[in-house]
Order: sequence, then structure tokens, then C-alpha cells
Amino acid sequence: MMRVFLIFLFLGNILLAQSLKITSIQQNQNSIVLNFNQNIKKQDFKNFSLSNNGEIRYVYDIQAELMGSAKVFKFENNIEVKIAQNSKEKARLVINTPKAIKILLEISTKKAVLKLPNANKSVNSPSIASLFETSPSKANIAKAPPKPTPATNTNRVSKKKIIVIDPGHGGKDCGAISVGKVCEKVIVLNIGKYLNEELKKRGYQVYMTRSKDVFIGLRERTRFANNKNADLFISIHANAVSENKEKLEGIESYFLSTARSERAKKVAALENKDDTEVMNYFSKQSFLNTLNTQRIVASNRLAIDIQYGMLQVAREKFKVVDGGVREGPFWVLVGALMPSVLLEVGYLTHPKEGERLNQSAFQKTLALGIADGVDSYFAKNP
Ligand SMILES: [Zn+2]
Repeated sequence: MMRVFLIFLFLGNILLAQSLKITSIQQNQNSIVLNFNQNIKKQDFKNFSLSNNGEIRYVYDIQAELMGSAKVFKFENNIEVKIAQNSKEKARLVINTPKAIKILLEISTKKAVLKLPNANKSVNSPSIASLFETSPSKANIAKAPPKPTPATNTNRVSKKKIIVIDPGHGGKDCGAISVGKVCEKVIVLNIGKYLNEELKKRGYQVYMTRSKDVFIGLRERTRFANNKNADLFISIHANAVSENKEKLEGIESYFLSTARSERAKKVAALENKDDTEVMNYFSKQSFLNTLNTQRIVASNRLAIDIQYGMLQVAREKFKVVDGGVREGPFWVLVGALMPSVLLEVGYLTHPKEGERLNQSAFQKTLALGIADGVDSYFAKNP
């Protein structure tokens, strides 16, 4: 019966052939109201949460197009709500809060209301899973670490942030090859150099794992970052596929975790292959041991900010596809003791994107976007 109903619903949607749009957003005292162009249901909202040092991010993904630009709303108790287009079909609403809170999602016809708690009332013992009326899928929850680590960061606040840029591949390892027959190692080094300049201009202390065409093992790269006491590690790569070359394009930002999606596994396999020794070094166990929850959450945030930064800047001049923030088992990120991301800045095998990636104007644009992402990460995570 249910199935018949669903099929009917499905056909209905096809016949209507109108995509869901968020037409306007209002902020009320303790709620956010989203207005849509058509009737919605709870299933249009997918939620999950992320937690770091007791600070929590409640994420709502909506299969809809956000009309107008990204927006930020501030509430009492340091609650901040952001909404932006996350991918072509998906808008993402993120509620940032220093404490676990109870959020109520109410839906009526074309309207969704997210009710936040009244000022100064918050849930005492946070159990993230219990905070949703609809239970979020387990796979998406990063639980809060048992004890937040105090102090160590505080004496750092006034210090210059240290960033290590890691242009992928190099020397004997060309990486992937672009449509114009240019090696990935050349393109990512250029982007890395532009990023180096830009971040230095913005007052960061920056190091590059390589600033010329040399081969460096994957292990060396994070070891270098650890020795420099880096606050962030940013590995830059470009993607490639052997099939569907015309179809696959777009920017993706990855953070380290055990692989989830098939796509992440494929990308990881490609990026991992330049150093087989590293595979033996990191037994499966030691790999899992290095997966510190706090660092994963921080890396996830960094990936979100950089992905957003790249898209914002690039889309001012170019038509760029949002491949999203993804997680995958990248060996180059394994040894890093700081938040770290691997950026796949586009598909070298895509006819248009592959060409564009080799142009300095686009490379500079990407560097600006990454730098914006770094800025906004530190603004929120000082
Ligand atoms: Zn690569």
C-alpha cells in the first residue's frame, strides 16, 4: 500500500516537474521561518549533527534551491543560523550553538518553522541523538569527545597561525593528466604558490611541503606539518576519471575518515597510489587510532569553510560545480596532528574544467577562495 502511494507520489512529482524552492526566510524572536514555492514534508529535511569541544552544529539539508544569497541570522545565547546553497539541488541550514539545544521542526503546507529554545534555557545533559524528533542517521553523527581539552590552545591565540600547504605529487609522480596533457603536479603546485602568497599577505605563517618539482613521500608531508607545529594542513590535488570525462566536473573537499562512499574510495585509491610503502607503515589499526574525533570534526569544519570559500569566489567569474564536502581514507592526511583537508580542485579530465585548471586566472581564483575559507575557519575556531 505504502509502496503504491510512494510510486504515486513519485509520478506526481514528475508530472508537476517543478523543483522545490525556498522563496524567502524570516527570523522571528526564537525561530526561523522558511517559505517554499510548494507544499513540503518532513522528509524534505535531512538532519545530522556534529560536535566539537561541546560546541554543536545541527545541520539540515533540504532538497531545494535557495532563492537569493546565503544568509546568517544571530540569536541569543550565541546561536547562529546559516543557510546557503550547498549543491545544485541542496540547500544547507546550519545551526551553530555553544550548547546542545532542542530544535523543533514544524511543517505546514508551504512553510517550515525551526523553533529554537527561549533565551537562557538549554538542555542540561546533551545527548545529541535524543535532540531530534526524527532520529538522525547514526552514520552521520560525530559524538562529542568525553572531555574537551582545555588550556593548550589559549596561549596560542595571539600567535600567528601556521599553515602548511601541500601541493600533491611531484618529481617522478605526475599525478593525473589533464585534457591539455599537463600533469596534476604542475597545476597544484601553481595553486599552492598562489595560496602561499595570499595567506602570507593575510598575516599567516606559511610553509609548503614542496615549492618545486620534487617527489615527496606521503608520510613526509604530514611529518613536515607536525614538525612545523602547523595549525592547518591543506593538501591540493586535482581529480581525474577514465570514463564519463564529459560528465564529471566540480570542486570537492575531503577530510579524513574511513571511506563511506564509493566515489570517495575511488578518489582515495587514486591519490594513495603514489606511495605504497605508506600502506604498509600504517597498519589498519594505527590508521584507526589516528582518527581522533575532535580532529575529524575540526577537519570537517575546515573542509566546509574552504569548499564554501572556493565556490563563492570562483562563482563570481566561472561556472563551477559544487562536488560537496566528502570524507575518505586519504593516507596523506593520516599522520597529521592538526585539522587537515585534501582539496580536489576540479576534474582534469573534463574538457572545460581541465583547460580552466591550467589557467593562472582560475588558479589564482581558487587560491583566493581557499584563503577565504581559512579566514572564516579561524574566525569561528580561533
Ligand atoms: Zn592527486
